Amino acid sequence: MSLISHVLHLGPLDNNTYVLTCEATRESAVVDAGFEPEAVIRFVRERALPVRYLLNTHAHYDHVAGMRAVQEAVGGDYWLHPADRLLLDHLTEQGAMFGFPPATGPSPVHDLADGQSLALGEEMLEVIHTPGHSPGHVTFRWKDDLWAGDVLFAGSIGRTDLPGGSFEQLEHSIRGRLFPLGDGLRVHPGHGPATTLGRERRDNPFVGENARFA
Ligand SMILES: [Zn+2]
Ligand SMILES: [Zn+2]
Repeated sequence: MSLISHVLHLGPLDNNTYVLTCEATRESAVVDAGFEPEAVIRFVRERALPVRYLLNTHAHYDHVAGMRAVQEAVGGDYWLHPADRLLLDHLTEQGAMFGFPPATGPSPVHDLADGQSLALGEEMLEVIHTPGHSPGHVTFRWKDDLWAGDVLFAGSIGRTDLPGGSFEQLEHSIRGRLFPLGDGLRVHPGHGPATTLGRERRDNPFVGENARFA
């Protein structure tokens, strides 16, 4: 059996919200719901998916602002790495920087940790701490698939100029933690199209072999 990943492209920043479903049990997780939570709720309800988890790669407004609405509608335990709690506690201030309306995160908050495994039906999601874009950024792994939030994009990387960001940390997260997992792994980012670790290891202009900007 398998884990099915469905992506919804939502909101003014073209965020990717993922709904991960264990094929055998249909138990599901929502990863990063920022804008248009009603689209996520509709997707879940149309398929009558039991939502076990609401998972955040990190607590930037565009990945969190819709989580509470999703939780109120379809349930699910909310999980975030504790190093991003400060960002979660200042969602409204974050949004104001970009002209977005006030927002409140879900509660209670369950703490994610590096190396943790979360059982989703018959499948296991692994948690990899990948800071740099934000202090508590994590990447979720199932076999050869990574849901990497704003760490690594097709041809780009997450910005490091926001509070708590660090290029050195981000570079280490990508080169030291993700690339060694193998070229064949698929990367499902928080914005834009999917890619593979191999493609980015070779060609990424920031962290690839011939990086021009590092
Ligand atoms: Zn972000
Ligand atoms: Zn983002």
